[in-house]
Amino acid sequence: MAGIVQHDRCFLSAPGSVDRTRVAAGFVLGNNHNNFSSDTFMNHKKFTQEKNKKHFEKFLQTPADKRIILVPQCLRNIKKCKAKEFGSYYVCAECGGCKICKISQAAKSAGYIGLKILKGGSTVRKIVAELKPEAILGVACYFEGVQGIKECEQWKIPVYFYPLSKDGCENTDLEIDELIKLLEGKNGK
Ligand code: SF4
Repeated sequence: MAGIVQHDRCFLSAPGSVDRTRVAAGFVLGNNHNNFSSDTFMNHKKFTQEKNKKHFEKFLQTPADKRIILVPQCLRNIKKCKAKEFGSYYVCAECGGCKICKISQAAKSAGYIGLKILKGGSTVRKIVAELKPEAILGVACYFEGVQGIKECEQWKIPVYFYPLSKDGCENTDLEIDELIKLLEGKNGK
């Protein structure tokens, strides 16, 4: 059963030429199956929506080359994945085996610092220390999103959270079109 009780596997939720009104209002994609009570799930969802609303403008004002996108390893196609390991994260080899390929290409085109595939939520700290992003676009389940946002707030780094549409330990999924539009937003200008 898919769940979000595995707390150290993935991380962090979205703006752009996307429907900005919808995003700024804290719109998040749903359908996460999880092992939390519905109250806890709704609390996590509400928290991420409120934080997205709060961080949206600052995220957009940060130049793309100061932004990074973090995605969870559970999105990879582990049967095909050729991503290279670098300590606390993987770098997508863009083999085409999963949706991360297209996301990585869009992030590069938009001028992002890059896309990192997190080995676990606890690795956010290491990535921030190493790459010093000024804003983060974080893809994750709601649980990891809450943890990541809280952690990044300590460092005053605005996080825009983009939720998985299907979470779990592996074979997770997301709505890619909205995310690509967000990346193509180029600072929302
Ligand atoms: S596209 Fe990237 S993350 Fe996905 S399976 Fe290939 S190398 Fe791994």
